[in-house]
Amino acid sequence: MTNDKWADVCNELQSAIGKNNFKSWIEPIEFDRIDARIARFRVPTNFFGTWVSQKFGDVILRHLHGAGLAVDRLEFLVQSAPQTPNAPQTPAVEAPVQSAPDLSAAISADADIPLSNLNPAYTFENFIVGKPNELAHAAARRVAEGGPVAFNPLFLYGGVGLGKTHLMHAIAWELTKNKPNQRIHYLSAEQFMYRFVRALREKDTIGFKQMFRSVDVLMVDDVQFIAGKNSTQEEFFHTFNALVELGKQIIISGDRAPVDMEDLDSRIASRLQCGLVVDLHPTDYELRLGILQSKLETQRQRYRDLKIADGVLEFIAHRVSSNVRVLEGALTRLCAFADLVGAEITLDLTQECLSDILRATSRKVTMDEIIKKTCDYYKVRPADLMSPNRARNIVRPRQMAMYLCKKYTTRSLPEIGRKFGGRDHTTILHGVRKIEELMSTDSQFVEDAELLRRLLEA
Ligand code: ADP
Ligand code: MG
Repeated sequence: MTNDKWADVCNELQSAIGKNNFKSWIEPIEFDRIDARIARFRVPTNFFGTWVSQKFGDVILRHLHGAGLAVDRLEFLVQSAPQTPNAPQTPAVEAPVQSAPDLSAAISADADIPLSNLNPAYTFENFIVGKPNELAHAAARRVAEGGPVAFNPLFLYGGVGLGKTHLMHAIAWELTKNKPNQRIHYLSAEQFMYRFVRALREKDTIGFKQMFRSVDVLMVDDVQFIAGKNSTQEEFFHTFNALVELGKQIIISGDRAPVDMEDLDSRIASRLQCGLVVDLHPTDYELRLGILQSKLETQRQRYRDLKIADGVLEFIAHRVSSNVRVLEGALTRLCAFADLVGAEITLDLTQECLSDILRATSRKVTMDEIIKKTCDYYKVRPADLMSPNRARNIVRPRQMAMYLCKKYTTRSLPEIGRKFGGRDHTTILHGVRKIEELMSTDSQFVEDAELLRRLLEA
C-alpha cells in the first residue's frame, strides 16, 4: 500500500470514528507497510499501540478491506526505523529464540498488542458445549460477563486439543464487547517468559512489571511451560500476586491440575488452586458428533457441492480420538479430498482418506478387556462365558462380548471362537447377528452396547 492509499483510508476513518478520536489516536500512528497480509504501523509507545489496537483495530481493518487491501491483522511497533520482515506470523512462537537480533521487535509485535494474538474463529458462538466441557464453558461465560471478579484465578485445564485456548480467546473477545475500556492481555506462558528474558537483557524489568501490573485482565495460556523455569516462575508469582491484590481478573490454562504439575513452584500451585479450577474432559461421542456437524457447516461454505453420505459423521465421531484438533483436521482433509476428486463422501472414501488417522487413534481394545468389562457389567464370571452353559443370563452377555470383539477388535471369527472356549466361527457369527437383531428391536441392548463401548474407551 502506498502512503496515498493510507491517506484515503484515513479520510474514511475520520468520518467513522469522529474527528477527536482521529486526532488523538490515528494521526499519531504512522503507516509503515503491508507485509504478508499484516499491516504494520509505527506508534509512539507500546501503550499507545495497545490502545489503538483494542479500540480501533476492527474499524481500521474494516476500512483497509474497504480500500481493497488484503490484510489479516494489524501490528503496531514502537521502532521508528524500517524493520526486517521476520516478525512471527502466528502468536505461538514455537521454538525458543535465543538471540535473534530483532527478537524484541518480534515479541512486541505479538505480546504488546494483546488482541492481535486472538483467533477470530475462537468465539463462544463457535464453541460446542457438551457434557465433557460444560463446566469449563459455564465458568468461562461467567468470567466473560466482566462483572465483579467472581473467582480468581479461573484455572482451565485439560489435555491437548480439548478447547482451552479456544475458550480463553472466547473470553477475551466477549470481554472486549462487554467491557471495552478494560485492558485485556492474553499471552502464552512462553511469551511471558520471552518478554521477561528480554526485560532482563534490556535491564527494563521495571517496565515489564509496570506493563503487566497495569492490565485489568491477564490471561496466560499453557502455564505448564514455565514450570521448572525458576526465575520466570518467580516473576510470574509476583505478577500474579500483585494483580490479585488489585482485584484484577486472572485466567490461566494448563495441561493438568496445578497440584499435578511437578516442577511448578508450590506457592504458585496453591495460589492457582485458590480460585476456580475446572477441567475439560476428553470429548465423548455426542460432543464429537456435535462438533463435526458444526464444522461441516463451515466446510459447506467453502465447498458448496459437498455431498456426504448418512452415517459418515457418526463413523468419524465414533472412531477419531477425543482431541478436537485431530477431529477437525480429519474433516477438513476429507472435505478437501472429496472436492478434489468430485466425489460424494461415503464411508469407503472416508476410510481410505483417513486411514492413517483411523489407525493411529483407534485404541487397541483386546478381547480380554472386552470379556472382563462385559462380565463386570452383567455380573457374570469370565469362566461362564467360556463354558457351554446355555442359561439365558449367561448366553446374552456371552453374545454381547462376541459382538463387541467383532466390532472393536480386528480379530477374525475363528479367532474369537477360540477365545470363547473353542467355539465354531458360525456360533460367533450367530451371536453377533443375534445382538444386532436385538439392538434393532430393544433399546436396552443399544444402551448396554453403548455403555460398554464407553467403558472400553475409558
Ligand atoms: P487446547 O488449547 O486445549 O490444546 P484448542 O483450544 O487449541 O485446544 O482447540 C483445538 C481445536 O479444536 C481448535 O481449532 C478449536 O477451535 C477446536 N475446538 C476445541 N473444542 C471445541 C468445541 N467444544 N467446539 C468447537 N471447536 C472446538
Ligand atoms: Mg492451547
